[in-house]
Parts: sequence; structure tokens; C-alpha cells
Amino acid sequence: MTILILGAGQLARMMSLAGAPLNLNVVAYDVGSEQIVHPLTGQVFETTLAQAIVDADAITAEFEHIPDDVLTQCCASNKFYPGKAAIKTGGDRALEKELLSKTGVQCAPYQLITEKAHLEQAVATLGKPLVIKTCQAGYDGKGQWRLKSDDQIEQIWSEMADFIASGTPQAPHSIIAEQMIPFDREVSIIGVRDKRGNTAIYPLTENQHTNGVLTLSVAGKEKSAIQQQAEDAFNKLASELDYVGVLAIEFFDVDGQLLVNEIAPRVHNSGHWTQQGAHCSQFENHMRAVAGLPLGCTELQRVTAMINVLGQSAIPDQVLSLPSVTSHWYGKTAKPGRKMGHINVSANNLHELGERLAKLTEYLPEDKYPGVLAASTALI
Ligand code: ATP
Ligand code: MG
Ligand code: MG
Repeated sequence: MTILILGAGQLARMMSLAGAPLNLNVVAYDVGSEQIVHPLTGQVFETTLAQAIVDADAITAEFEHIPDDVLTQCCASNKFYPGKAAIKTGGDRALEKELLSKTGVQCAPYQLITEKAHLEQAVATLGKPLVIKTCQAGYDGKGQWRLKSDDQIEQIWSEMADFIASGTPQAPHSIIAEQMIPFDREVSIIGVRDKRGNTAIYPLTENQHTNGVLTLSVAGKEKSAIQQQAEDAFNKLASELDYVGVLAIEFFDVDGQLLVNEIAPRVHNSGHWTQQGAHCSQFENHMRAVAGLPLGCTELQRVTAMINVLGQSAIPDQVLSLPSVTSHWYGKTAKPGRKMGHINVSANNLHELGERLAKLTEYLPEDKYPGVLAASTALI
């Protein structure tokens, strides 16, 4: 079988690696160059998107910001999963909030903004501080502002206008203001749904962000009540979207109550730990779902932490000298802050995981790999 992935980044690369043992041939559409490429080697195939759609047995996506005409072409083939509605919803915070409200899943209080008066209104009704986000095109904390005092309104409004003018697609509600949630921690759930509606859900992941970018995840700490809340949200959203594939949901944990931050209709950075920590990784499960194969086991095999490698030109070789440490390189050109790869470390229990993270800090300095030391101390 051949699977066509829209997007040719690291997620397509890892789906391709996971698909190989299942005899799935994966090709990727690079949205920037408009070429069909091999997701591992970058080799360009002499074909068009239209032909690749015909040749594929199933089509999926590694990101949600896909040009509308490409989505329409793919959907017309009836081979595209998780479907246009799911991709559109994941790529637009206004649609996302609509879905949450329809399904009764809790999120932060918010207001949509199309003119400056709405921003002033949001400050009056939601209070301060606020997190202001573009509804479309944001990722890794880009396209966001923090409003802490009234005198920032003018400045933020003009920056938002510049950001939108710089190429972000205009939409009826292109800005959203959310109450800044004083969360205890951030967690996410990764689950998969097949074409018959069967689901399988991984244990919750605890995530640390630095400057809006995920830096570290730990899986295997969860208590059942919180896991259950996250699974309920997953089941409601996945069934409303008639979803096929892996769906990720990010939450704020406020005193044991989960509020949805956002959803991602795809494999997700906070699920990279599943490559070593679960029987069947999120990448394999996504490939299985879109290919119509039975879903794989999502149970935790070993407690696992994932450390993102941001902006570095290599992963230090020495990390591989430690037990149960694996490194995953994406083969991209290094740029400051760019996601270049990740490191997974597994253990038999949380204490041992803490000890292994402590050893890793010898090779991973705090300024480049923030949070590893703190995560280690918290586990030991
Ligand atoms: P991603 O790369 O995860 O897609 P993104 O650009 O879509 O990121 P968000 O996930 O919406 O951005 O926000 C990035 C981070 O900013 C969150 O993980 C959280 O730490 C913080 N944040 C966002 N919204 C809020 C909020 N309403 N209250 C408090 N913190 C927030
Ligand atoms: Mg996002
Ligand atoms: Mg996010």
C-alpha cells in the first residue's frame, strides 16, 4: 500500500519509518516546493500531486495549515483521513472553540476579536492577564501576545495587524483572546480512532513548554481520575469529528480539572515518547488507522521522558552511552529554536527515570535543554 502524507517534515519522516515494517510505502507532498518527495531521503519523484493522489491508497497530513485547494483535491479522492473538517478545525482556533462548545468539553473563557473595540471588551469581560492568539497559522507559540495591562492594548493591536498583514490568511474571526489560566501543569492525551470507530488511547503525558515551545514530556505518572477526564474529552471530540487516525489534545490541569488548550489533528510532539514507551508508537498507530489495519496496543510499556533538541546541529553522541536512551534526528538545517530532533529515555520506574535524566544533564546543558534537571529532581 502507498500512503501519501501532506507535509514533508519530521512527522512525515517518523510515520514513514513506522510504516516500513508494515509494508507501507510512504511518500510526502512538500507544500512549500509543491513536489512529491521521499520523506526520509528528500528524493524528488517525477510526479504531480494529482497523480500522487491517484496512486495513493490513503492520504493523510502531518500538519493542519494546508492550502485549501490541496485539501479539496485530496478530499475529493475519498481517501483522505482524518478528513477536511478535522484538519480545518485543528488549524483554526475559532472552529476549535466551536467544536469544544458543541461537545461540552471545557476550555479557557475566551472572546473572538475582529476589531479593536473587541479587544477592549475582552479586557473588560475576561479580565487580565490575557493570552491573545491568531486563530490560524500559529505554532510553537508564534502569533501570540500576552496582555497584562491596559496600556499594552494599542501596541498589541498594531503588532497583530502587522502579523496578519505579513501573510496570515484573513478569516472572519482571525484573533482570539483567552483568559490566561494559572495552571498547575500542562498535559496532553494522544489517542487513535479507526475507520470502524474503535479507539485506543495512550496514558496522559505531562509537558513542559519554554517560551511557548515544548521542551520536555514525561509519560507514566498519571492518576486514573485525570486520565479518565482526558479520555472522555478524546472520545467526545473524536466521535464528533468522525475522526480516523491519531488525534492529540493539549490541556491545562487546574487543581485536577482539565481545560482544553488546543487540539492537533495529527501525530504530536508530546507523543514522541511512544516510540520507546508504548508497544505501538503514535506513528505506527496513525499509519495503521489510515491504512485500515487493526490498531496497536497503546498501553505504557515503560515510563519514558522525551527531550526536544532545539536549534542544535547534532545530538551529543554520549547520550547513547546511557541505558535506554535513544536519539531521533530529523535531518533538517539548524536554525535557532528549530525542532531538530529528540531524545527518549525510558526506565522501569519513575525513580529510575529521574536518575537517568540526572545523568543526561551531564551532556545536556540547562541553557540548551531547559527543564531536564528540574524534571529529574521532581522524580527522584
Ligand atoms: P503548538 O506548537 O503546541 O501548536 P501553539 O503556537 O499552537 O503551539 P498554544 O499551544 O496555544 O500555541 O500555546 C503555547 C503555550 O502557551 C501553551 O502550551 C501554554 O504554555 C501557553 N498558553 C497558551 N494559552 C494559554 C492560556 N490561555 N493560559 C495560560 N497559558 C497559555
Ligand atoms: Mg498549536
Ligand atoms: Mg500547543
